[in-house]
Amino acid sequence: MIIELNKRQQRILEIVKDKGPITGEQIAEKLSLTRATLRPDLAILTMAGFLDARPRVGYFYTGKTGAQLLTEKIGKLTVKNYQSIPVVVNESASVYDAICTMFLEDVGTLFVVNRTSHLVGILSRKDLLRASMGKQDLESMPVNIIMTRMPNITTCEPTDLLLDVAQILITKQIDGLPVVNFKETDGETKMEVVGRVTKTSITKAFVDIANNKIV
Ligand code: ADP
Repeated sequence: MIIELNKRQQRILEIVKDKGPITGEQIAEKLSLTRATLRPDLAILTMAGFLDARPRVGYFYTGKTGAQLLTEKIGKLTVKNYQSIPVVVNESASVYDAICTMFLEDVGTLFVVNRTSHLVGILSRKDLLRASMGKQDLESMPVNIIMTRMPNITTCEPTDLLLDVAQILITKQIDGLPVVNFKETDGETKMEVVGRVTKTSITKAFVDIANNKIV
């Protein structure tokens, strides 16, 4: 969290740095203020990670800089808080239908599922454009002949770190990942698509960080 500390909060930080561990009461005394007046400032400084509070001992300075705290917070963001709704098509759908779905749903990537709703493939804008460049009949061409298929699909799970996903998107040069839950069925591991995480999700997280929405 990028946090702009006010004068009083900065003063509190200095006092704790110098005299900590120190109780709220003692800090208040040094500033000639009441404990109640200081409570919101102490709460902010503790929540932001600059101070640590221990019962019956008082406040400590954590020694962490704003940049360190920001890095820690980014490193804790998970996929589940930023994933969006996945848009899927059946593997027997035609390329033409997939193009219509992509336009209507306003997404850049479609996930392809089989009859039991498990992930079998992925279709990007360029996959569909490439298929449209030929002279083939798009209405009779099933998506499963042009999609990127398992086991070549990179997926993630809701509990994965957003930062790891961002790294994968950069390394693999792709726009997004399907968010999946793994399910054991008949001794086989199948993937159920539960979400979509894209460059837009990462952009949202970036803006949330700048707006102090990450605590
Ligand atoms: P575009 O091709 O429209 O620029 P991408 O960069 O996301 O979009 O996709 C590039 C290629 O990688 C496409 O062929 C697509 O099928 C494939 N692809 C996209 N996402 C994934 C993924 N999560 N795992 C594996 N392959 C993917």
